[in-house]
Amino acid sequence: MKYGVFSDVHSNLEALETALKHFKEEKVDAYLCLGDIVGYGPNPNECIDLIKSLPHLSCVAGNHDRAAIDKKQLGWFNEFAQAALLWTKRELQEDNKAYLNSLPEMVENSHFTLVHGSPRDPIDEYLLGGMQVKENLDHFTFTPCFVGHSHLPIYFTLNSDKTVTLKAFNNGEKVKVTAQVLVINVGSVGQPRDGDPRVSCGVYDTSNKILRLARLDYPFDKTQEKMRKAKLPRYLGERLSFGR
Ligand code: ZN
Repeated sequence: MKYGVFSDVHSNLEALETALKHFKEEKVDAYLCLGDIVGYGPNPNECIDLIKSLPHLSCVAGNHDRAAIDKKQLGWFNEFAQAALLWTKRELQEDNKAYLNSLPEMVENSHFTLVHGSPRDPIDEYLLGGMQVKENLDHFTFTPCFVGHSHLPIYFTLNSDKTVTLKAFNNGEKVKVTAQVLVINVGSVGQPRDGDPRVSCGVYDTSNKILRLARLDYPFDKTQEKMRKAKLPRYLGERLSFGR
């Protein structure tokens, strides 16, 4: 089975279409979405429509998805995110609100675990360090655990001395997903934050246990133009040029 793995689309339609084109070329059979479909960007309804039409999709809820349907208070977000969420709430169609409302916090099966944040705090915890991953080990059964939320393409491996190491994922890098690979973040489709503005996503082939990370150019100037027209905070558009 080949999975297209992606996260943190954040209403960026041009970036999402680029990731989905890559998955199609890779002939994936199924899709794993790690949440935050909406927030920040200018096309929440179009992104939800595309994602919910994907065959064999497993998708979990992110903190922005929750806030957009009033299941999380806006006070948790910075001023730019709050402004974009207020805009998103006004834009969202009822059927798409219902879709966001239907998303679970966690999906587990014998091949993987899916959460937006972390297994012990699926919506909000940022997994950024080895100790944190160790503290989460009692909260899930099946590895790898795919996460999103930090917008950073990284993964965590278990060492023979039981410590956990964080590793950065580079473009085109292939990782053999052994039992020692505990947690994987394939980065963000719609708002990368590792200094590389390109779309970040992964293809996971369970037949050989290889996950390959891809960074893909996309026309972010189009997204930025839409954000200007929608009067979304300037900073949120500008950061797409820098991947910060
Ligand atoms: Zn996010």
